Amino acid sequence: MKWSYATHYVCDDCSASFEMRRALNTCPACGGLLEVQYDLDAMKAELKPELFDGREGSMWRWHEFYPLRSGDHVISLGEGGTPLVRSIHAGPLLGLSQLYFKNDTLMPTGSFKDRGFSLAVSFAKELGITEGLTYSSGNAGSSFAAYGSRAGIRTTVLVEYLANPVKRSMISLYGARTAILHFREMNEITSMLERGVRELGLYQFVNFINPVRHEAMKSYAYELSQQFGWEAPDVVVQPVGTGGGIWGAWKGFRELKELGWISSLPRMVAVQPEATGPIVRAFRQGLTSAGSYGDSTRTIAQSMAGNSPIQGGRRVLKAMYDSHGFGELVTDEQILEAMAWLGREGISAEPASAATLAAVAIAVREGRIAPDERIVCVITGSALKQPSAIEKAAAGTSLQLNANFEELSRLLASL
Ligand SMILES: [Zn+2]
Repeated sequence: MKWSYATHYVCDDCSASFEMRRALNTCPACGGLLEVQYDLDAMKAELKPELFDGREGSMWRWHEFYPLRSGDHVISLGEGGTPLVRSIHAGPLLGLSQLYFKNDTLMPTGSFKDRGFSLAVSFAKELGITEGLTYSSGNAGSSFAAYGSRAGIRTTVLVEYLANPVKRSMISLYGARTAILHFREMNEITSMLERGVRELGLYQFVNFINPVRHEAMKSYAYELSQQFGWEAPDVVVQPVGTGGGIWGAWKGFRELKELGWISSLPRMVAVQPEATGPIVRAFRQGLTSAGSYGDSTRTIAQSMAGNSPIQGGRRVLKAMYDSHGFGELVTDEQILEAMAWLGREGISAEPASAATLAAVAIAVREGRIAPDERIVCVITGSALKQPSAIEKAAAGTSLQLNANFEELSRLLASL
């Protein structure tokens, strides 16, 4: 049994192969995105699901499925292994008997990005990389800074000017050099970064340009399948910015199916804001690549406000088509309502995460989800990092009371 069954990279576009000990971002031959390949035949022969049932709870219990060569350089803060919470309010209200929330608000820095950065930073450490760059709408920057600092890697984070002050400050708190990034169109950022790879050779941690970050998102598939007794859910609903989460999860489910550990695959559902939503719009037009659409400043869902996906969102679109999934666009009003619903479930979800529940409500109404299906909303980030959204979602009135018993009893009687 090996520590990892990763074998090499293959380019999405030109199919060239590259060995994994090189510090690569995109394909040196054509600039395409690189995908890690695994020796699934050997995994099938040597591994069994029961092996993983007895291991400790973090996402590192699945290390055979990641590209790290050994455990010597793992940087872990206990990421992954988050609770799967069954809905007791929203599900019944929507007529759904099996609605679940995968609660990644409980991650070390408060978002699902910790899965990707625990892996990508550990991998970079193993390669001897000492300096790295990413850009962020907030959550990824915090995560990169936290793991990078622990690894002794110098981190630079370009944080979008749209990110709220709490998210910006957390990135600095965790020890990154930060710059507020100003732009008119999101594609200015991607072309700047792609040129940075070619001309500066600085190792980047941007989703997909970094070829290993999304490998950690495969852990959603492993954890969910294990939590359901080695069965896949029917539907997995995820907020989509660049789409590392949904693409990684889909890859993980495909691996488990190929290993014979699960018998079916879920439909993958991408959720984006009505104000932008380039990938969902492209999907609805039957396109395999998305352009720019909409205005990123016009949605409360900052973590998925991007209006111009990396490499046209082709991987996300492929996951949606191949899984017979679909996409939903949600408004701020629907998101705030879903945040309040999730509060009653005991979960404080940031707007982009609450959007998954808003999307489920739409999909039920429009007949894309059946009442008895097993549905998982991935709650990717905590609302605590976007306090202004909490205030909006919790719009309930504050009652006034003087510290006086008679007033208290009158108040309680009036409620
Ligand atoms: Zn290539």
